[in-house]
Amino acid sequence: MTVTLSLVGAPAGWACRPSRSFLVRIAGMSEPNPPERSTYWQKCSVCKKPIPFGGAYLKCAISTCNRKSFQLWFCSDSCWDAHNPDQNHRHPSYTEHVAPRAPG
Ligand SMILES: [Zn+2]
Ligand SMILES: [Zn+2]
Repeated sequence: MTVTLSLVGAPAGWACRPSRSFLVRIAGMSEPNPPERSTYWQKCSVCKKPIPFGGAYLKCAISTCNRKSFQLWFCSDSCWDAHNPDQNHRHPSYTEHVAPRAPG
């Protein structure tokens, strides 16, 4: 019987317990600060330039860039191009869209 569990270099009495501050609760249920009368629809995911209501924008065609929790919008094809190295797309492409009109 071989037990291959060796704590090399761990000092004697080293507590194998994570500190409680390590488990930080991530607020992912509701935004604490609701957008106050936004004058734009979204912000470009790269340059943070506002994408206006009714304005044209680009979306990456790769599904991992279009998750509900991870949506990317781009104000121009150069911004879309800038995200490609980050996401490591093999066959990058984008789709063109028009932002919805301002509510009301
Ligand atoms: Zn941009
Ligand atoms: Zn992408």
